[in-house]
Amino acid sequence: MIGTGILKGMAVTARNFVGSYFEKERLITVQYPEERTPLPENYRNFPILIYDNDPQAGLRCVACKICEKECPPQCIYIVKSDDKKPDYMGKPQFYPKVFDIDISVCMSCQICVEVCPFEAIKMDKDFELSKRERFDSLLLRREQLSKSNEYYHKIHPVEAAAVDKNLADAAAAAEAKKKAAAEAAAKVAAAKATAAKTTPVPPAAGSSASTSEASS
Ligand code: SF4
Ligand code: SF4
Repeated sequence: MIGTGILKGMAVTARNFVGSYFEKERLITVQYPEERTPLPENYRNFPILIYDNDPQAGLRCVACKICEKECPPQCIYIVKSDDKKPDYMGKPQFYPKVFDIDISVCMSCQICVEVCPFEAIKMDKDFELSKRERFDSLLLRREQLSKSNEYYHKIHPVEAAAVDKNLADAAAAAEAKKKAAAEAAAKVAAAKATAAKTTPVPPAAGSSASTSEASS
């Protein structure tokens, strides 16, 4: 019958409206900002840069600029450093001297996160970012974008735990590779030393002729 769907929809609305006076779970609005509903794990807003322990030395970003190239609206601006600092595995890496994101242009697509090979950029959940000034205040600098790994764990606990595991596995694999290379080099050196000891030294040219001449 025409209009059945509308009647069913109205019945659901009426049931929730009346029910909200008696059952708290039917109440779907809260008294914001005093009350807040928890955001789901995969909620995202704008990107942040993750650091481990130290906001300067611990920044994971190595200024490879992949995210800058891949960002569809081109709202990331990076200037690579001239010097290097050790990364989380102790490997010397460049770092971003400048890292800006214009959040008035960012469309929260998360492509920058997906292309980053260093787990350095992640999505924040902070949505209370309204400003009176349209331009400079929406251009977030490296210092404003930098957030600790603890903060990342707080906002995305499941994802952050998986990232920590990936980084720990990568560090362990790199360490095992380094150890295997050192062992192989030590074996080659030992083999060379043994070969040098066992190889007979050839007599000097003309030494046998001069001996026979002396005996005759
Ligand atoms: S979320 Fe998308 S639009 Fe925003 S900075 Fe990352 S790639 Fe660019
Ligand atoms: S955030 Fe990631 S992809 Fe972007 S420059 Fe830094 S390391 Fe490269």
